[in-house]
Amino acid sequence: MSFEIDDLPVRDELRGKSPYGAPQLDVPVRLNTNENPYPLPEPLVERIAERVREAARNLNRYPDRDAVELRTRLAEYLTDTSGHQVGLANVWAANGSNEVIQQLLQTFGGPGRTAIGFEPSYSMHGLIARGTGTGWISGPRNEDFTIDLAAAEKAIAEHRPDVVFVTTPNNPTGTAVPRETVLALYEAAQAAKAATAGAIVVVDEAYIEFSHGDSLLPLIEGRPQLVVSRTMSKAFGAAGLRLGYLAAHPAVVDAVQLVRLPYHLSSVTQATALAALEHTDTLLKYVRQLKDERDRLVAELLETGYEVTASDANFVQFGRFDDAHAMWQKILDRGVLVRDNGVPGWLRVTAGTPEENDAFLDAVRELKKESA
Ligand code: PMP
Repeated sequence: MSFEIDDLPVRDELRGKSPYGAPQLDVPVRLNTNENPYPLPEPLVERIAERVREAARNLNRYPDRDAVELRTRLAEYLTDTSGHQVGLANVWAANGSNEVIQQLLQTFGGPGRTAIGFEPSYSMHGLIARGTGTGWISGPRNEDFTIDLAAAEKAIAEHRPDVVFVTTPNNPTGTAVPRETVLALYEAAQAAKAATAGAIVVVDEAYIEFSHGDSLLPLIEGRPQLVVSRTMSKAFGAAGLRLGYLAAHPAVVDAVQLVRLPYHLSSVTQATALAALEHTDTLLKYVRQLKDERDRLVAELLETGYEVTASDANFVQFGRFDDAHAMWQKILDRGVLVRDNGVPGWLRVTAGTPEENDAFLDAVRELKKESA
């Protein structure tokens, strides 16, 4: 007797949906998940081992439930890099920014509530919304992938969402969202929910360290319902660590305590993240290199005759293709894995090492010649 997922009493809103699934293929050049291509420097690896050894001596005990030391160091990092003073009470941390987003949706979304994002954008916003029983509204973008502010304001007024996601720089397009747009969306979201307690606006800044512009973190001042979410997966080169965090009014940090699992952030995670934060200066040097490589990818793709979406992230959206998936396969056949995010006509490549980017550029140049 065959028994499959559909035979189980899975919740209605999850039926027929696909799980998050970027292919993890064993190919020479992997430029598909926006990771940092540089392994952590050896002195940092040593420091992590030291810190984790210390933590191991106390593994019989639960970790610091409130991750006080880690949140204090994250607050210092944010203050140093944004020029805006934040402290322990403004910062919360979890296992990747995916968990931060999940905690926000568990707290401010849920059954009978809705969240909106402007798509194409990070697909997990919608998936985590569904997983938390939050209704999902797909908001519009312009042809060039910037946010269509008038249409976005209209959608917010019409649907009155409880949570609004603004991803800047946006994934998969690389598009930065201007400060004025975020401010306008915040106002629109509060006005639409004026009869109740307003809406939460989540500014997902997973890629902000790669941006030409500044973080929108200072906007949390005087806006208690604006949350900035960040991660150590990209700029810090620590995707395997699983450490995400948010900055907001202390009331937001208090609110997410209601849904966080006790001791959610292991002692090993906290120790590793603290070690990485001691090496911020070295890690951020790689960010400068990656920004240069991103700009080179843009320039050389354009030169080769592809279209490119302006990018503020560590990846580039390029096209256009009648059949993006067929193109994805042809690039893969040449040993380079890029990402097909399902945006019709477009693919996304993550900036890798100069050698990896050369391999990618050689492949797409060859394919351009073939198609000429
Ligand atoms: N936000 C955006 C926009 C992302 O692209 C990603 C990762 N792809 C995340 C959040 C989640 O990252 P993590 O859970 O590794 O912090």
